[in-house]
Amino acid sequence: MAKDISIIGQRKRIAVVGAGIGGLVSALKLAHDGFEVKVFESSDYPGGKIRTLDSASGPVNIGPTVLTMLSVFQGLFKEVGENIFDHLELKEQKILARHWWSDGTEFDLLSNKDDAYDEVRRVFGGKAGKQYISFFNSTEEMFNCFEKPIMKSSSPATLEILSGICKNPKIIPALFPFFTLEKYLKSKFSEPKLQQLFGRYSTYVGGSPLSSPALMALVWQAEARGVWTVEGGISSVARAIEKLAMDRGVEFIYGHKVIEIQKSNSLVNKVYLDDGTSHGTDAVIFNGDPRALATGLLGSDLRNIANKTRNANRSLSANVWGFESKTINKNLVHHNVFFSDKVNSEFFEIEKGQIPLNPTLYICAQDREEPNKSQKSERFEIILNAPPLSKRNQNKEDFEICKSVTLECFKNFGLNFQVDLERRNLTTPKDFNDLFPATEGSLYGQSPHGMMATFQRPKCVTSIANLFLVGGGVHPGAGVPMATLSALLAVEEMKTSQILI
Ligand SMILES: Cc1cc2nc3c(=O)[nH]c(=O)nc-3n(C[C@H](O)[C@H](O)[C@H](O)COP(=O)(O)OP(=O)(O)OC[C@H]3O[C@@H](n4cnc5c(N)ncnc54)[C@H](O)[C@@H]3O)c2cc1C
Repeated sequence: MAKDISIIGQRKRIAVVGAGIGGLVSALKLAHDGFEVKVFESSDYPGGKIRTLDSASGPVNIGPTVLTMLSVFQGLFKEVGENIFDHLELKEQKILARHWWSDGTEFDLLSNKDDAYDEVRRVFGGKAGKQYISFFNSTEEMFNCFEKPIMKSSSPATLEILSGICKNPKIIPALFPFFTLEKYLKSKFSEPKLQQLFGRYSTYVGGSPLSSPALMALVWQAEARGVWTVEGGISSVARAIEKLAMDRGVEFIYGHKVIEIQKSNSLVNKVYLDDGTSHGTDAVIFNGDPRALATGLLGSDLRNIANKTRNANRSLSANVWGFESKTINKNLVHHNVFFSDKVNSEFFEIEKGQIPLNPTLYICAQDREEPNKSQKSERFEIILNAPPLSKRNQNKEDFEICKSVTLECFKNFGLNFQVDLERRNLTTPKDFNDLFPATEGSLYGQSPHGMMATFQRPKCVTSIANLFLVGGGVHPGAGVPMATLSALLAVEEMKTSQILI
């Protein structure tokens, strides 16, 4: 049961640095539990990577678009005495995504397992259908086995993981060292297009199928459990949480960067802003990338926090377009993937530090759900994977390369966007690094490559008893639901650590 801090005496003050989803969730939960919370955010909006770009047709989503694991958000709203459906208009998608290849193959991955089986059989044949069911069942077992000891634990619970594996010996092959996702998918599907399709899920956590462990196949199960669209895009989720937090007294200070977190007598006790003000606090929740602490951006006192992340390999970055365009003919749905003919060539190019010249394109057609008939244009987001700055091995500006490969892809697939792509429409890895300091443009924290990656992520608890880390750069990992879970886990740790009593 939630402890009412206010009855103990003076309410304890918590400084939350960053209003990304992890910071917002922490603030809401802590305020609900009776703490006095201030959120400091350098930009002027809630959501962090959940961003939009202004356009004449309204805000274009240029951050996350695929909302999965709804139960995580339902749980959060319930914990603060609310019903999520009173605050957000959510709609479950029958088509998880529409997939296109240049030979004319078009394939809808459907949310219902039986319907999906029928569709796989129709497009790729009976053998592929059976392989899909086998793949589905294996990845479901993996997800079930690791959900509690990894995703719902503040650090991977090794004994529980081992016991889960013993109870589910069928997942053992996916744990073999050097068994990559690419190899695993080759063992599961004889159809190369399905290998390519499911390999793409490793990019959801910033990895390449060529180097991510086979276990990463479970990432797709987050989608298999349902994909939801939100009226107004995922920004509506951030705004709804911000409002609930404000209702519970959270103070948001936007437009100012925290430049130092002060430590005194082995505890943090003050945050300094770039406007020269300082704010005393009893604890800090840091929602920026932990690498910002490790590289000394928030003061040399904190360089030891998450220090292994300083030199760890980084996850993928991306070039992200956001624009409006006159309605085009193509039969798009909300989520669309246009696959490269050169399977995996983009990952080889990224590995070499280059912007891929033959990329797979993800296109979100955010108005396809219920197009507003009065709208002359639709809004689109396009994501092209890219290496993080730390791996970058070419000096050419991203804009010209991205524009030419994107237009080439439009031509190959007959996509008639009527848009003149401008620099303001593109967010590059360098832009991401400027927006999210010390990330090297990586969108998902440390690289998920290698069997031990899960164990090597920074955890919410740090060596400073009243400093906690939350967000996609922290265990259990990247993505909006995972960053939400990280915040809930951190708040639990904070409340059970004796530090605030
Ligand atoms: C293009 C793109 C597409 C994506 N697609 C999906 C998707 O479809 N589904 C999905 O689930 N996930 C997706 N993700 C990943 C998801 O967006 C992130 O994992 C998640 O939003 C990260 O949240 P966070 O809590 O780590 O905070 P962040 O979003 O990283 O925000 C951190 C905040 O802290 C602030 N901050 C940092 N340092 C300071 C400081 N010193 N002072 C003040 N403020 C500071 C920053 O300004 C920022 O607002 C996508 C990400 C991107 C970029």
